[in-house]
Parts: sequence; C-alpha cells; structure tokens
Amino acid sequence: MISKNDIIRVEITDILPDGQGICKTDDGFVLFVKSAAPGEIVDAHVMKVNKSYGYAKVERVITPSPFRISPDCTAFASCGGCVFRHITYEKELEIKKKIVDENFARIGGIDIRCEEIIPSPQRDGYRNKAQYPAALDRDGNVRFGFFSRHSHRVIPCEDCPLQPSFFAEIVYETELFCNEYKIMPYDEQTRRGLIRHLYIRDGRKSGEISVCIVATGNIPHAEALCARLIKKNANIKSIVLNINKKDTNVILGDRFITLWGKDTIKDELCGLEFEISPRSFYQVNHDGAEKLYSLAALFAEPDGKHILDLYCGTGTIGLSMARRAGKLTGVEIIAEAVENAKNNAIRNGISNADFICGDAGGAAQSLAEGGFAPGVVIVDPPRAGCSEETLDAIVRMSPERIVMISCNSASAARDCATLKNYGYDTKRLIAVDMFPRTGHVETVVLMSKK
Ligand code: SAH
Repeated sequence: MISKNDIIRVEITDILPDGQGICKTDDGFVLFVKSAAPGEIVDAHVMKVNKSYGYAKVERVITPSPFRISPDCTAFASCGGCVFRHITYEKELEIKKKIVDENFARIGGIDIRCEEIIPSPQRDGYRNKAQYPAALDRDGNVRFGFFSRHSHRVIPCEDCPLQPSFFAEIVYETELFCNEYKIMPYDEQTRRGLIRHLYIRDGRKSGEISVCIVATGNIPHAEALCARLIKKNANIKSIVLNINKKDTNVILGDRFITLWGKDTIKDELCGLEFEISPRSFYQVNHDGAEKLYSLAALFAEPDGKHILDLYCGTGTIGLSMARRAGKLTGVEIIAEAVENAKNNAIRNGISNADFICGDAGGAAQSLAEGGFAPGVVIVDPPRAGCSEETLDAIVRMSPERIVMISCNSASAARDCATLKNYGYDTKRLIAVDMFPRTGHVETVVLMSKK
C-alpha cells in the first residue's frame, strides 16, 4: 500500500505531454512524478494517492536520466508554462513526435506516422507575446508573473526565458509605475483592484512593440506610464488600455482605448507585411511560423487554385500563398482580425483575396450552399478543433485537398478521423515545434480525396 508522504524508489519509464514522468510499481500502482525524466531512478515523494494511481514529486535523483539537464529558470518548479526544461531539447522533440503518433493512432485510428518533427529555430526567447497576470507579492508590491500549474496563484516571473529580455524591462517599468502610484492589482476573489494583466507583443522582424494594459477601468496617470514606457524602449509603437470588468478567466475585455501611438503594430512574415491588432491572433513563434507556413504551402499546392482559409486570423497563411493561388477566401470570427486581414491584402498589393467575418462552420455552410468549390481548404482551428458543422461543410465543397494545421494533435486526429469517414485519406503528417520547453506542438496534415 502506498500512502501520502511515502518516499519510494522508482524507475521512470515514460513521460506525459505535460512533463510528468510515469512509473509503475510491482503491484501495478501507477505514479505520476512531476519533473522526472524518462529512464532515471528517483526517490519519489508521494503527494496524493487515488485507488490505482497517485502523484509524486522528485525528492532525490538517484541515477539521472541521460536526458536530464539542469533547469535554467528559477520559476520552473512552480510556473505552469514550461514542462520540459529539465530534459534535453532533442529528447523533448522525440517525446512530442511520439505524442503526435499516439494521438493519430489511438484517437484517430489512422494508420500514419509523423514523418518528422521540425525543431524551432530558437529554443528560448522565441515568444513574441506574453500576458502577465498582476498580483501583490508578500511585501505588498505589485508584481507581474505567470499562473502556477493548474491554479490562479501568480508566480512572480518578470524575466521568463521564453520571451525576449526587453519584455522584462517593460514589465519592471510598469511595476515601478504601479507601486509608485499605488495602483492595485485586480483580485479575483474580492473582485477589487484595477490592473489585471500586462500584455506585450513584438513584431520580431519589424521590431515594433505593443503594450496593452488590461484593467477594470481607466488607469490614473496613464500619460506618465506612457512617457516612462516609451523612454524605456523606443520600439514601443502602441500603448493600449483594454477594459475588462467581468468576473472571468478570459483575459481581454471588449473595449480597447489607444493611450499612445498606433492602434496596431506591423510585422513581416514570409516576405509579406502584416498589421496586427491586440485582439487578433498572431503566431507566437515568428521563425517557427515561417517553417509552418512553408510546409502548409507544400501540402496545399495552391497554384492557380481557389483556396479557402478557415480560422484565418489576420490572413497570414492564405496571404502567404495568395500570389500563387487563383483566389483566396478567408473566414475568421474576430472582427478586428478580419479588418487586419483585409488591410493586409491591400498592404501587400494582393487583389485576389476576400475575407468573411463569421463562424467558420456557419460561413462554410453558406459558401457550400452557394456552390462554392475551392480546390484546397486550409483549416487552422483553436485547440478544440473544428466543429462538426465546419467538417460537414468542407466535405460538401468537395476540395481535392485539405490542409489541417493544429496546435492540438488530439483534436486534429479526431477531425481527421471524421474526414476519413467522409472519404478523405490522411496522406502526410509532420510536426513543427512552435513551442519549445512547453507541452505544446503544432501539427500539419495533408488529406486528399480518396
Ligand atoms: N490561421 C491564423 C490563425 C490561427 S488561430 C494564423 O496562422 O495566424 C485560430 C483562429 O481561429 C483565431 O484567429 C480565432 O479568432 C479563430 N476562431 C476561433 N473560433 C472561430 C470560429 N468559430 N470561426 C472562425 N474563426 C474562429
């Protein structure tokens, strides 16, 4: 019998997508060991016990895994962002590829192997976006950080290694400002306080930075904050206040007020220029996105065809292929992103593109109704995957090829299985590691009509 607070010696045989090591005791009890590495022997401190499984943390490493490395971030043990900072990047890639394979086999029931996993050009500092929740630290100072795993406890961490170091300087300056003017962080329990999040994004190629302060209302001395920020970093081109008064987990509220500079920032991707609003989605790993999009183009073979780009955001994927395509139609639900997409087409002199604001499923159904027949459909849905309605509409349009891009290989595998039943074979599967050190990985799938 294993009980809470036991310390038991175990051999870690495998690792989960969330970075927990797995081991099985002789009597079949499964233990999930936080931050353990595959192939190592550890003394595990049991934290929680259920009937046939339990959770533990590493008390002591007895024989380290050959893949173990020393985590180079002090917040690693508590922060919920990275899960693979304790193993080599090569091993992380192998694990992620295996996860994709397993999802396609188990959830999709599809007989295909992930051909390769393309590594991220950068392992650290690759993120062009950070959203830091605000909280008071033990000394009563305003601090920005990240939520700890599975909770809303803020771990102060201004200089997260996934972001460029100039983000940290903007965070420090904002903290100084809040503490000087006694501007309180919002407290989810009491629902009091003003500042909820600091949201920073940079255009990696353009250098332009946008700073968005998410608060429950207007912030006093906003001019002073703007003056301090632009003095700190001359690349800041947009400072925006977002008002979010709701009792919600959703970070952004509905209202954006530009405090200083432009409403949007621009960046360059795949040789094109894009404008991006704070509300619009933009791939967080710039160089990784270029690899992802070139793979999508390889699979799509867009030449001369009409492309339908569902869940298109600011139009980046479709526009990156539009010059080769006959025509491009994009669908996206966020109005600001659609406006960006339209401007992005004009900005790049692309005249064969149009964009529809609406739900992908509803819009695709209307298009199918009207006899719309694209040669290629590209889908890049959020983590939950495509709706049944979307998949049904795609099948009704009967494209030669479907290219599915997904940040969640489990929902991608499920959707590919649905499309398989409708007559689409999964031909190619490649993973692109857009999110080193975290448990996430991007997959690109090519499907074609049987
Ligand atoms: N392809 C884009 C965006 C991918 S992220 C890029 O590479 O940048 C997924 C996008 O789907 C987001 O822009 C999100 O706003 C949008 N989205 C979410 N739900 C949607 C829905 N039901 N219908 C249409 N778009 C949706």
